[in-house]
Amino acid sequence: MSDGTAKPRAPGFETRAIHAGTPPDPTTGARNMPIYHSTAYVFDSVDHAAALFNLSTFGYIYSRLTNPTVAALEERVASLEDGRGGTACASGHAAQLVAFFPLMSPGDEFLASRRLYGGSITQFGRTFAKFGWKAIFVDSDDPENFARALTPRCKAIFIESIANPGGVVTDIEAVAKIARGVGIPLIVDNTLATPYLCRPFEWGADIVVHSTTKYLCGHGNAMGGVVIDSGRFDWMQNEKFPAMSQPEPAYHGITFHETFGDMAYTMHCHAVGLRDLGPALSPTNASLTLTGIETLPLRMERHVANAAAVAAYLESHPKVAWVSYAGLDSSPYRALARKYAPKGAGAVFTFGLKGGYEAGIKVVEACELFSHLANIGDTRSLILHPASTTHRQLTDEQRQAAGAGPDVVRLSVGLETLDDIIADLDQALA
Ligand SMILES: *Cc1c(COP(=O)(O)O)cnc(C)c1O
Repeated sequence: MSDGTAKPRAPGFETRAIHAGTPPDPTTGARNMPIYHSTAYVFDSVDHAAALFNLSTFGYIYSRLTNPTVAALEERVASLEDGRGGTACASGHAAQLVAFFPLMSPGDEFLASRRLYGGSITQFGRTFAKFGWKAIFVDSDDPENFARALTPRCKAIFIESIANPGGVVTDIEAVAKIARGVGIPLIVDNTLATPYLCRPFEWGADIVVHSTTKYLCGHGNAMGGVVIDSGRFDWMQNEKFPAMSQPEPAYHGITFHETFGDMAYTMHCHAVGLRDLGPALSPTNASLTLTGIETLPLRMERHVANAAAVAAYLESHPKVAWVSYAGLDSSPYRALARKYAPKGAGAVFTFGLKGGYEAGIKVVEACELFSHLANIGDTRSLILHPASTTHRQLTDEQRQAAGAGPDVVRLSVGLETLDDIIADLDQALA
């Protein structure tokens, strides 16, 4: 957490990526954050234990709720997003569930962009429906569509900053204004952009979620997710959020907003969400992710440089029909990318071949350096045909709306030598 207690100058992004949340270990002096493989933590006394269970003192009880290695990761990502607090989870999808849990009751609704990672569309549309939570999907290209779709039971709006798979950029500031106008939080999935390229809180978002599985961990070796709260949303402005504004019977009638102030949402995510839903992050994965984040600024710079060069190469290739990359001048999202991600439009994007579906499949299979798999944000270059994999569960219409039609090929451009990346695509296209 970057509470900046009277420091003359806040440390820069690169410094926080390495140091936030991880001072030297006070007992051993270990400079790297130890992996605390402990399920539980000894109480000083019966009174201490009771105070911990009442949430009247901070401390560790049980690693489903909090763990020191996991807490270090929460603090680091919160710092990079300029947020107030964080809740780490076992995956990006777990983070989305935990993010919505304090906001929603059965019968409630929320608005979500149609342009989301396919797994999120399925999670929201099908699985959340079993909790009585209704997702209303909206074409995010015109932010006014969100205003038009609002209902009295809407408790949040959910968008991706740079959307998977097409690299489409959403007008965060415009959507934030609509959410603020009706007193509900804007949740932004910032997975593809990372806080290095885009910081949604600067544009009025209230909550950020990440699949840390992708660029934050960065090496394709650990699942994880995190929910970051800006600490700025006023939970008392209306009656929409009883979990924050009303007494909580399971904790002796405390009111989260009154007791925890700007940490209310983060405390609820831990003390109720993680406690009862249970998707805690393992300390080993937290450690791998902490290490990954240390090089996030360097990696993102190179990811973006390689992606921009690959997009330009593909756009000029005679067999390529179109390229959807917001960093290209030809992209309708170029202006939004300049505003929200001025250091680069990410490194995940899509293209289509003049030969359509058949040609696309052939390119995926002919690549040698690119790995054919369902992930993004790895050091390695990755290639995928979304319609038959990540977006397979969707209807044809949902796939088209999400930018994952039958001819679409998705790339996640890695950190290999640029000439090698282009040479691999060149031979596959040939
Ligand atoms: C991968 C991904 C998710 C889901 O994250 P997991 O860690 O796979 O559960 C959510 N949003 C986006 C944009 C993603 O790319």
